[in-house]
Amino acid sequence: MLSGAWSHRGQLAGLGKRQRSSRSVVQQRFQEANQAKNLQLLGALECHIWVAARARVHVFPLRGQLNPGDSMPQEKELWNCLRSKEGGFGIKDLHRQNRCLLLNFVHKLHQTDSLPWKDWYRLLSGRDLGDVASPPSFLDRIVLECLPLYRSITRAGIVSGSTTSFWLDRWLPGRPLAERYAALFSHVTRPNATVATVVASGLSLQPRLSSVAGRELGIVQGYIDAIALLDGQDLRYIDSPSAPPFSSREAYHMLSPWRAPDVSACQAWALKLPAKISIFVYLADIDRLSTRANLFSKNCAPSGSCEACTSPETERHLFFDCAIAVDVWGRLRVPIPHGAFSVWELAPPTGVDSSSWRAGIATILWSLWKARNDLTFNVVPSTARLLLRRAADDLSIWRWRYKAQDHGCLDNLRTLLVSAAV
Ligand SMILES: [Zn+2]
Repeated sequence: MLSGAWSHRGQLAGLGKRQRSSRSVVQQRFQEANQAKNLQLLGALECHIWVAARARVHVFPLRGQLNPGDSMPQEKELWNCLRSKEGGFGIKDLHRQNRCLLLNFVHKLHQTDSLPWKDWYRLLSGRDLGDVASPPSFLDRIVLECLPLYRSITRAGIVSGSTTSFWLDRWLPGRPLAERYAALFSHVTRPNATVATVVASGLSLQPRLSSVAGRELGIVQGYIDAIALLDGQDLRYIDSPSAPPFSSREAYHMLSPWRAPDVSACQAWALKLPAKISIFVYLADIDRLSTRANLFSKNCAPSGSCEACTSPETERHLFFDCAIAVDVWGRLRVPIPHGAFSVWELAPPTGVDSSSWRAGIATILWSLWKARNDLTFNVVPSTARLLLRRAADDLSIWRWRYKAQDHGCLDNLRTLLVSAAV
């Protein structure tokens, strides 16, 4: 999200580390780039400003995963940009998003409908899309920059062949013909020619061919002879197994990094509880909360001991091994596994379905955390009964975030919590 966007890092390198965070300097560079119509630099600066605005909101909670002095690794930044159903925060990478909007502009140039701006562009540019006027115009520079990327992530379906590049688009299975028959392509004088042009006028080749190019010419001529063109618009798909029609949304997804889904995060984000609870329970599950043991290991607390007892206040101790936590889970008759485990592995009590139980786990852990904070900061002790009652109250408030058909299961869970608090 951050580092990957700095394609013009060199242009920004003139700004010192302190200066880079200065709003006025960034704004000045933004205005300069805007005046110069430098799209890449604009994208990088937009990303910088966006990151500065968002860092405290979305990125900061993840800094608990970093050791002091660590720079933000790119992998974690990319993780933020994963979709929520893949376990990420679903934050848009503006640089990638801007690029996909430019790809959509290039895609529109591949449509045969007549619009004034397209007619104007075709009039001023070269013969084929990709051939640019000299010197290149502002739009030419966008096409030059984005057309190779557009061709690399799409696949064309030939109908009339008027908007598909014979050599550079993927319209046959496998790679583009320019890569498969590189020797012949090196002799081509019209590299951006469309399929329709090649069928009508033939390959535009230099007068003399090498022996390798001569052999490849026979194969390529076979492809040309087999083409049957029809009236209509060529099709354009994203080059992926599902092959969706091109759109900036699908292009964004195609250009997004892939990573195996984080199961714990997926469970947390699927909760229909307030976002702060989802984030809390996820951080609790991966042991990134500011427990005393974690703070002590970073020299941020004088002691790592639990406020209620003398044991180290680890995530495991706080939520499962401390006396009040043992009392809470015991009253609910929920067995606590030995060793390391995910909070989502806790078995639901009898009569509670697994979906409601995940909300129950989050609510109970949240109540334990609130009780711990009350004891630590306000010196107000709590009991398991009080804690379970508070969890039941939270559930009765948050049940409205769920669909009506889920209310019955949540009410069963709430009844269980109330009965365990007696
Ligand atoms: Zn304790």
